[in-house]
Amino acid sequence: MSDIIAAVSTAPGRGGIGVVRISGPRLENLLRGIVSRPLAPRRATFADFVDARGLAIDQGIAVYFPAPHSYTGEDVLELHGHGGPVVLQLLLKRCLELGARPAQPGEFTRRAYLNDKIDLAQAESVADLIDASTAEAARSAVRSMQGAFSQRIDELLQGLIELRALVEAALDFPDEDVEFIRQADGAGRLAGLQAKLREVMSASQQGSLLREGLRVVLAGRPNVGKSSLLNRLAGEEIAIVTDIPGTTRDAVRQSVSIEGVPVHIIDTAGLRPATDPVEKLGVARTWAAIEHADLVLLLLDATQGEIAADREIMRDLPAGLPRVAVMNKIDLVPHAPALKQGGGGYTVWLSAKTGEGVEFLRRALLESVGWKQGAEGLFMARERHLHALQLAQQHLEQASREMATLEFLAEELRLSQQALGSITGEFTPDDLLGEIFKRFCIGK
Ligand code: GDP
Repeated sequence: MSDIIAAVSTAPGRGGIGVVRISGPRLENLLRGIVSRPLAPRRATFADFVDARGLAIDQGIAVYFPAPHSYTGEDVLELHGHGGPVVLQLLLKRCLELGARPAQPGEFTRRAYLNDKIDLAQAESVADLIDASTAEAARSAVRSMQGAFSQRIDELLQGLIELRALVEAALDFPDEDVEFIRQADGAGRLAGLQAKLREVMSASQQGSLLREGLRVVLAGRPNVGKSSLLNRLAGEEIAIVTDIPGTTRDAVRQSVSIEGVPVHIIDTAGLRPATDPVEKLGVARTWAAIEHADLVLLLLDATQGEIAADREIMRDLPAGLPRVAVMNKIDLVPHAPALKQGGGGYTVWLSAKTGEGVEFLRRALLESVGWKQGAEGLFMARERHLHALQLAQQHLEQASREMATLEFLAEELRLSQQALGSITGEFTPDDLLGEIFKRFCIGK
């Protein structure tokens, strides 16, 4: 039996409206203690929000969602008052007096998942939507939240369960064994599942780029045009995305949006030897970020070409980091804007000053992480999902090699299903049993 939780659900600070949300198994008592009037289910009601003596703490809209028709599946009460930090804390305090406890981060959504209002992938996309740093990222998070991703996973699971049922049945009836699987086109079904899984993986990988973004290290000698290029990239985009979540904005990081993919740029120009402790900490953090970068953008001066000092800069950066070289200032030399691939990466000729060739750079950046332009129907996938999809794929591949040994085949299919089921959090062995008995009744 869960307890009553309460939290200020709107962002801290001052705002027109502030919302306190309460969820629990039974809220009638709490409701009577804080709202001055009776509430009809799911109707906005203007009321006083009162303290223990019946004096108004605030006045606003109260909405009561009795279970199970609420976000969490429990009784939920929302108090929409004024968005001041003190008045909201007073409201919250009143809820605690009436038996609620402060909610933990994500606890409302967690209850929604535990009460089967949403699955695990949907629950995760709620957080991803809130954290989305570009319009495209927000759109794909909404799609996942509405269940588009989960639906694809469920379709895969359904196909997998059917195939498993077939194999388990063959195992139970030894005289039907391998030939039985062959006749039921077991191999064809398996290949079909693998193809579907590849599609889901591709859409998920794209979606995960929208979530994680691309981490780029900007390197180059003084005066090659690093700031000019950053301004050019940032200035032409409508949306300048927020900083990498969980880190504070500092001078050596900037984020821009390219086709909705957040590109987090770490400017090595800010990496001068630091003396004061705070700056030292910042520099250490930046080097740690470089370790996790996806690629390095090396800026060169086209009027000089690659010189020894450029190679020295590269030496300080982690070996093996993919690289995009940029020959800047082509407005000063007879060279047309261009994009070339080869020699371990892309080379782009452009002018940060005039903007010619910058399109090529955008393309090089996105292509080097496998972004397909104009892709539709993306899901906001997380590392966890990609990992589970890969695991499911490996087991399906192994399964296709084990078609002749039913026990091994059955086991690989089981493991693949388990991996997929972990995405939506829905997998239980009972489902499988039910499915088997539903389709293959004893006595056949
Ligand atoms: P940083 O030190 O690498 O950040 O370089 P800046 O962006 O400050 O640029 C150094 C100088 O080069 C400035 O005078 C810029 O105006 C100039 N510059 C940068 N990009 C270009 C370019 O594409 N063409 C020309 N002609 N000048 C540029």
